[in-house]
Amino acid sequence: MNIRKETELTPFGTPSPEQLEKINAYAPSALSAEEVFVFSLRLCDDQPDRDDERFDTDALPRLAELFLGKTGITDHNWSAEKQVARIFDTEVCRENGVSSIKAWAYALRAGNDAFVRDIEGGIKKEVSVGCAMAWARCSICGERYGSCAHEKGQLYDGKRCVAILCEPVDAYEFSFVAVPAQRQAGVLKGWKGGESMHLKELAAKGGEEARRELAALELAAALGRDYAAQLKKELIRLSAALGFSVRPPVLGAIADRLTPDELRAVHQALTEKAAEAYGPVTQLPGDLPDGEPKLETDYLI
Ligand SMILES: [Zn+2]
Repeated sequence: MNIRKETELTPFGTPSPEQLEKINAYAPSALSAEEVFVFSLRLCDDQPDRDDERFDTDALPRLAELFLGKTGITDHNWSAEKQVARIFDTEVCRENGVSSIKAWAYALRAGNDAFVRDIEGGIKKEVSVGCAMAWARCSICGERYGSCAHEKGQLYDGKRCVAILCEPVDAYEFSFVAVPAQRQAGVLKGWKGGESMHLKELAAKGGEEARRELAALELAAALGRDYAAQLKKELIRLSAALGFSVRPPVLGAIADRLTPDELRAVHQALTEKAAEAYGPVTQLPGDLPDGEPKLETDYLI
């Protein structure tokens, strides 16, 4: 199963001689300390997150290894797949009973001025980190999660069920993302010793109003996801109908990286193009002989 989590990074600056040595193990040609910029990220830990999932503590050392050498890309440069940073060192840290993976990454200063300036200037970039885990264990009964009757997030004899993610399979490149609106909605700054508090926690502790607000947000988010999925399907269908030679999975991947506004704009443009080509019909193309498979079912991914 693929897991994607968000994290934040901390600027570090110029590498130490030991760090530079590790960096140069990954660089095609030897770099000097002045040429690179170093920052650190906390990739993940073994604490339950807002999805009521957590990484198995025993899985962290292997996961830390898998992240070595992985590159980071910025989301607004997706077409060029511009790689701006690379993880050159990872470490499993244990503090106050919490184990976490800390990573150090470097970026070349040349050509990445804006990126380095943003980080140095303290503009926090959120980082989205992904990995694949083989299976999950139920925290209540220890069985494979999904094979037992327990559901994550539910209480059993006062104990919350959590899916414990086990056996790392792979770690993927990470991306620097603009803070999505949904996340802003999902995470609120509360007063819990100055830490941030998730909306779900607030709703659990707060009154009826907070719970209603959460339910409304969850509904809105679900509707939004449905709408985006529909637009994506339409985009693939229209592209195929218009004879674009880009394969549906590739189109799907592209659609996944568009903002809602961009997705709408592309969909609008394709709809107009299709209307020019076939007339304003809803089933494209409308003149398929009976028995021919419809494009919609052909190109679903
Ligand atoms: Zn169970």
